[in-house]
Amino acid sequence: MQQTEMPVKITESASLIPTSSSQEIALSFVVPVMNEQQSVRILFEKLSAQIEQLGKSYEVIFVDDGSTDNTFEELRKLHSEYSGIVRVVRFRRNFGKTPALVAGFEHSRGNVVFTMDGDLQDDPEEIPNFLAKLDEGYDLVTGWKFPRLDPISKTFPSRIFNGLVNLMTGIRLHDINNGFKAYRREVIEDPHLKLYGDFHRFVPVMAHWRGYRVAEIKVRHHPRKFGSSKFGARRFARGLIDLLNVLFLTTFLRTPLRLFGPLGFWTLLFGILIDAFVVVRKIFFNQAIHDQPLLFVGILLMIFGVQFILTGLQSEMIRHYAFQRGEEYSIKQELD
Ligand code: UDP
Ligand code: MG
Repeated sequence: MQQTEMPVKITESASLIPTSSSQEIALSFVVPVMNEQQSVRILFEKLSAQIEQLGKSYEVIFVDDGSTDNTFEELRKLHSEYSGIVRVVRFRRNFGKTPALVAGFEHSRGNVVFTMDGDLQDDPEEIPNFLAKLDEGYDLVTGWKFPRLDPISKTFPSRIFNGLVNLMTGIRLHDINNGFKAYRREVIEDPHLKLYGDFHRFVPVMAHWRGYRVAEIKVRHHPRKFGSSKFGARRFARGLIDLLNVLFLTTFLRTPLRLFGPLGFWTLLFGILIDAFVVVRKIFFNQAIHDQPLLFVGILLMIFGVQFILTGLQSEMIRHYAFQRGEEYSIKQELD
């Protein structure tokens, strides 16, 4: 791809368009795209036609996740034609769908934020159904592709994956990998929903754990028209690892990481008490120390206690790091 660029405005988060930051935006659409040059314009046109019907204010944030085709050129054109509506965040390289969504969230201003795939598989006509579900009081609505049109090579691993997630997390969802979702602003601003790795698909699980109300609605979808899927068998394996990670972050990890501190404290205290007892017996009852094997138990416990406390401190650092690590992407350009 050509690297010499026309001069572009590089902005901080402040908007270049004075009106858009002062007026409320009802809906934001975050669309991660990687090599979707043939789809972006069609998607935008369908999307805008649908929303104009609803009469709501909106913005569409395309996140170009390191495309090597003409996706960015297409987006640049869209941005100049529909300035104030189309916004573009361009990564320096391909970082993956999760960082792309996070970047989109961070740029979004709408009260409701949608995520959609950029390959025309998700149908904008479903938008009113998502909104209706949010109106019922849900905080996050996720799509369930039904009937599923993908080949069996995709649906089969997907079924196993969904089953596992349901089993392990206790949330009943049929289509974890669906990229078509609607979030209330609160959910994406929740500081505890930090996403990294391939976590985007677990947002409903994590949101559920945080006490948000999560719903699933059946959505129509279309087979991919242009280009090819960016995910293969690797996704399944990585998905399983991420599932474990999510479980760790939300449940398992919290327990052991908070285990060592108190354990260390009690062990050390117990050791000190035992040895104090030994010393008291020596001083007041003249019982020779070498006759008291308990002494060594006490010393051992004190050593363990100090070790546990140190491990506990390390665990706190890991915990802090793990929960603070969020997006890890690098932005090359912003068309605001
Ligand atoms: N995508 C992305 N970065 C990636 C992989 C995919 O931004 O590293 C985008 C892709 O362009 C599409 C969406 O994520 O808009 C879903 O990807 P894809 O259609 O390949 O997934 P599938 O529908 O096959 O599950
Ligand atoms: Mg797709």
